[in-house]
Amino acid sequence: MNGPEKNIETKRVACKVCLKEIPRSDARAEEVSDYVLYFCGLDCYEKWQKENGSNEE
Ligand SMILES: [Zn+2]
Repeated sequence: MNGPEKNIETKRVACKVCLKEIPRSDARAEEVSDYVLYFCGLDCYEKWQKENGSNEE
């Protein structure tokens, strides 16, 4: 008998700013042109926004 299979895969993503891994469902997602960035929280999100300045098209 095998133990319970771990089929439940929690998708994890890395925060763009601090690189901390977080469950994707908990991450704050920001769509940028044709890809998505993830942030562990508002702090990192705001930090990223500052570093990237205002939206430049
Ligand atoms: Zn972070």
